[in-house]
Amino acid sequence: MTESEFQKVIRSNIPTFEDLENEIIQNEKCCACGACIAYCESQGFDVIEMIDNTPRFKSKKSIDNCNKCGICYYICPQTKTLMKELNNNYYVHDKIGHIRKILAAKTTNSTLKEIGQNGGIVSAILIYLFEKHKIDAAIVSEFNDNFEPIPKIIFNKEDLFKSAGTRYSISPQIFPLKNINKLPQEILKKKEIFNTDQLRIAFIGTPCQCRAISKMKFLDVKPAHIIKYNIGLFCFENFNHSQLYDIIERETNVDPTNIKKTWIKKNFFLQTKDKKQYEIDIKTLNPAVRSNCLECDEFTGRFTDISVGASGAPEGYSMILIRSERGEKVINSMFSKDIIEQFIVPFDKTIQWKNQKLEWFKKLISLKTKN
Ligand SMILES: Cc1cc2nc3c(=O)[nH]c(=O)nc-3n(C[C@H](O)[C@H](O)[C@H](O)COP(=O)(O)OP(=O)(O)OC[C@H]3O[C@@H](n4cnc5c(N)ncnc54)[C@H](O)[C@@H]3O)c2cc1C
Ligand code: SF4
Ligand code: SF4
Ligand code: SF4
Repeated sequence: MTESEFQKVIRSNIPTFEDLENEIIQNEKCCACGACIAYCESQGFDVIEMIDNTPRFKSKKSIDNCNKCGICYYICPQTKTLMKELNNNYYVHDKIGHIRKILAAKTTNSTLKEIGQNGGIVSAILIYLFEKHKIDAAIVSEFNDNFEPIPKIIFNKEDLFKSAGTRYSISPQIFPLKNINKLPQEILKKKEIFNTDQLRIAFIGTPCQCRAISKMKFLDVKPAHIIKYNIGLFCFENFNHSQLYDIIERETNVDPTNIKKTWIKKNFFLQTKDKKQYEIDIKTLNPAVRSNCLECDEFTGRFTDISVGASGAPEGYSMILIRSERGEKVINSMFSKDIIEQFIVPFDKTIQWKNQKLEWFKKLISLKTKN
């Protein structure tokens, strides 16, 4: 066999974007994380795009131009590839994943207390990382007038006030990394960075999105090399934006432009800009749940440095699951500087409290997978 024939055989066994389309995208398993496009475009291959939160080839010619490297398939969080390796790397032995510490806490910043979803912990972590010059940027999710999430790379802590809170529909968080090589020079200069490889970014995302980042980091592929902190949000399910707000408008007569805040506490709640509150039976929203979420067994984000959520937390607090040494250093330092305050559990009840939380998460995950 000549070398080129041998190479052809190897290549023909590498799954490509066409396999991703057949296995994941057409079967509605894509979680619209944007990892495939972020990788492909940042490498200059420029053959796939995202239309209506669905990745696809840009044109028929793009199918030929795809170099069939297969990286998009390997890093997709919805393919089974690399899961054994990831589980080993993150010491995952059960559905909750490896936890160094579990606690509840809230921000001490009065503005964040107002606008944060729960304890304002995620934004507080990012403010701390910016202030201590541990990051140059963060990937967060802002939103437009229609309450539609917009993933964004931000470069200063002041912008965090535009992203605090939760919007319950898809925000393709990895997508903005596609343009990482096209950042304006003045932004880099301000950060005293001369090469985008020197950027240090904190990533905020749902567990599936954090899994994609972890796969990329495991394979050491760009542009995930600049993600320094991988911070996950608990996630039971996510919704299609247009379907979700069609149902909400039908049920409440409130259109998304008039929504100030939404939250889920058994049922779905919303507060309007003129401070009226509505409750919607969560089952009414079932038709808007994204199909890919129906098969998801993640909840607490197993492949992260820190995971944050509301479930199990006392009112006004967030639960924090610390998973890595890096994550632990950040949270410890924030406590020592009174940036966040911990929910105090009586000394003789700490083990019972932790076990209760873990049991609760397990119950939610089994409910999720049963559904
Ligand atoms: C789709 C979705 C479903 C969730 N489901 C649950 C659940 O079932 N149980 C539970 O306990 N917690 C759930 N959460 C997490 C919860 O809503 C809070 O995000 C979490 O408790 C952190 O609150 P905080 O006050 O510490 O964060 P904040 O300081 O308010 O920061 C929130 C962060 O979330 C980011 N964000 C907002 N919307 C999105 C989005 N659509 N996609 C990605 N990032 C986003 C923002 O960029 C911001 O950085 C969910 C979050 C999302 C996005
Ligand atoms: S060039 Fe590589 S990453 Fe891009 S679509 Fe083709 S196989 Fe995927
Ligand atoms: S990498 Fe993300 S956006 Fe691309 S196919 Fe997989 S889930 Fe969808
Ligand atoms: S339920 Fe699972 S697949 Fe759906 S957004 Fe949340 S983590 Fe991703």
